[in-house]
Amino acid sequence: MDEFDVVVVGAGPVGLFLACELGLAGCAVLVLEREAELGSPWRVEPLGMRGLFATSAEAFYRRGMLGALLKATGVPDDSGENSEGDGLSAPPMAGHFAGMEPDPADIDLAALPFRLPSPAPDAMVASLDAVETVLSQRAAELGVQIRRGASVSALTQDENGVVVRAGDHEYAARWVVGCDGGRSAVRKLAGFDFVGTEPQFTGYIALTTIADPEKLGSGMINRTQTGTYVRMFADGQIGMMDFDGGAFDRTQPPTREHLQAVLRRVSGTDVTLTEVQLASSFTDRAKQATTYRQGRVLLAGDAAHIHSPLGGQGLNTGLGDAMNLGWKLAATVHGTAPDGLLDTYTGERHPIGARVLDWSRAQVEVMRPSPHTRAVQAVIRDLIATRDGATYVFQKVSGSSIRYDLGSEHPLIGCSAPDFRLVDGTRLGDLMRDGHGVTLDFTTDRCLRGSVTGWADRIRYVAGPVRNGLGFGAVLIRPDGIVAWAGDRAPDRAAFERAAGHWFGSPEV
Ligand SMILES: Cc1cc2nc3c(=O)[nH]c(=O)nc-3n(C[C@H](O)[C@H](O)[C@H](O)COP(=O)(O)OP(=O)(O)OC[C@H]3O[C@@H](n4cnc5c(N)ncnc54)[C@H](O)[C@@H]3O)c2cc1C
Repeated sequence: MDEFDVVVVGAGPVGLFLACELGLAGCAVLVLEREAELGSPWRVEPLGMRGLFATSAEAFYRRGMLGALLKATGVPDDSGENSEGDGLSAPPMAGHFAGMEPDPADIDLAALPFRLPSPAPDAMVASLDAVETVLSQRAAELGVQIRRGASVSALTQDENGVVVRAGDHEYAARWVVGCDGGRSAVRKLAGFDFVGTEPQFTGYIALTTIADPEKLGSGMINRTQTGTYVRMFADGQIGMMDFDGGAFDRTQPPTREHLQAVLRRVSGTDVTLTEVQLASSFTDRAKQATTYRQGRVLLAGDAAHIHSPLGGQGLNTGLGDAMNLGWKLAATVHGTAPDGLLDTYTGERHPIGARVLDWSRAQVEVMRPSPHTRAVQAVIRDLIATRDGATYVFQKVSGSSIRYDLGSEHPLIGCSAPDFRLVDGTRLGDLMRDGHGVTLDFTTDRCLRGSVTGWADRIRYVAGPVRNGLGFGAVLIRPDGIVAWAGDRAPDRAAFERAAGHWFGSPEV
């Protein structure tokens, strides 16, 4: 039987990102993927297009993969130019709440805490296939093995390790991470509790030929007395919400006749679908694993939390899980993790997942086709048109309001680090490519130089004058880009050493 440090189940974006993190940290990693090939029609343009917000773009930037991702999506890579100045510019998209979009120009950039210009865009669109292609290539460079056409069907664990079965093969690992999507086999096999709320609607996404598209509304999101339909990126690409309590979903395949009947009902027209090339249904069932770890088995991405795609947050949340878990699991594998480090994964990410579930539930509630809901929508639309409203929605959707509770009142601790830039041009993002922690010391006497030596194998130390230090004298940044400690212009060395030991374990003596 083959043996690995970690078996990741599922080569979707979350599983692949996590595998890259573990490979970067020198772990022996195997990814088992059910599908034999990349490039499913559900994962390429147009149906596979997904919105990626700042936290995800930042994760790719910090691992040196942003250029490859922009190239794979066909977006011109002007990220360097965009981040040259010292000023912040409005994001290209501000996201939406229940289809109501704030104007990006209304966002109060000064109200977004601790931001500096960065090559990572605030928002971009990429296909799942592009994301997976970039990550698969990187994983291969890092020595990660990916076995496709391997569907995991059994799992047993004891205190020493885990064995998973895929087809006729068994694989042994010290740890297994289920990144196998919303219907996760790993979650079920390992006995995780998965709790939440039942659906209100069946949603449809389909690529069709419409005989008389002029009968439909010309806007992207169309609300009627009977439901909502969305005209998406491509001609004939439609999305629909039918408030049937989720009754249709998974009972039968959505045929042309059924889709046409639903579209007629939710649009209030007699529109005709002549052909359906691809179609699938989903619901707004919103559930979350009560813990992300059971012994030696962990969950990340849709395997850990499901909700309606409204607001486009599943992928962004899953990539955040992977970034948070990767370095903690690697340190655990290598035996350098301080006590309890791995359990901070659930502690930090579960509240984020719960918040995303509630954000999507709130959107479902204001999309019901009823006069009362339409009245509430009108109020929310007015609020989103204000500066505070636009800023609030952008912070929620982009993840820029995420701050983990790391037990400190300091407002920067627990936030994603701003992309500090030294006078010599070095950027924080560029210093994070090897997946180590980073200490930036902006003080003239380089006061933390002596303190950091015990962690030199885990924390990179960089000193020098900073262009805009936002008033800080030094910061300690975890490998996932989260600020673990921040000091003023006369940093407290003992406090720094306590924080380094807390996150990175004992110093070498
Ligand atoms: C219509 C729609 C639009 C969306 N838009 C957005 C958006 O704009 N922004 C956003 O952030 N999110 C969006 N999402 C959500 C996003 O697509 C998911 O959250 C994301 O794909 C989850 O990634 P994942 O890697 O966790 O799971 P998945 O992408 O589901 O990948 C799981 C992988 O595991 C494999 N697998 C499954 N079972 C097994 C098994 N037993 N053994 C081995 N392998 C297995 C699967 O084949 C798959 O490759 C949208 C979703 C939908 C449906």
